[in-house]
Amino acid sequence: MRILRVRPRVGGIGMGLLFTSEPVANVTSSNQVLVSACLLGVSCRYDGLSKPLPDADRLGAQGLIPVCPEVMAGFGVPRPAIERREDGRVVVCDSGEDVTERLERAAHAIADLASAHGVTTAWLKEYSPSCGSTFLKRGGVAVPGEGLAAAVLRRRGMTVLPADGPCSPLAPEPGAVETR
Ligand code: SF4
Repeated sequence: MRILRVRPRVGGIGMGLLFTSEPVANVTSSNQVLVSACLLGVSCRYDGLSKPLPDADRLGAQGLIPVCPEVMAGFGVPRPAIERREDGRVVVCDSGEDVTERLERAAHAIADLASAHGVTTAWLKEYSPSCGSTFLKRGGVAVPGEGLAAAVLRRRGMTVLPADGPCSPLAPEPGAVETR
């Protein structure tokens, strides 16, 4: 298993393709997967922290490509918490600012990147309004649903899997619940 090197780059959407890895031009095989960057130890969460998976080898891929939709959307680190509402819109919790379009553009940029290099699978962080693939949090409560980036990647034909949480194929114990 190889974690592709993360290299900040300015340009593109908002702050740019901050978590696009340098060797992505060489990514051509299906044994490369996208992974929520915070799960690989990148401190890109809204609170400035990461949420590293204890054993990324269990993802079973030879190359892991870290991506963070919210940083790619230019939201910065740290940043105000956002939430995906029942109507599908994504808003800043405190101000109510609608950031749906910005996040959608970032998610499509990730899908373009994956598509251009034959990457078809994404392991994403559960409970996130962007990356959650079977659960997200609304009002601090875990509810069934998918984050905006996960939804876009699925619409674009990718296989999106939760890398953590109770629905993850990697979950060590049934019913284990992790908060965002
Ligand atoms: S869950 Fe997704 S959007 Fe949130 S910090 Fe991790 S990679 Fe970024």
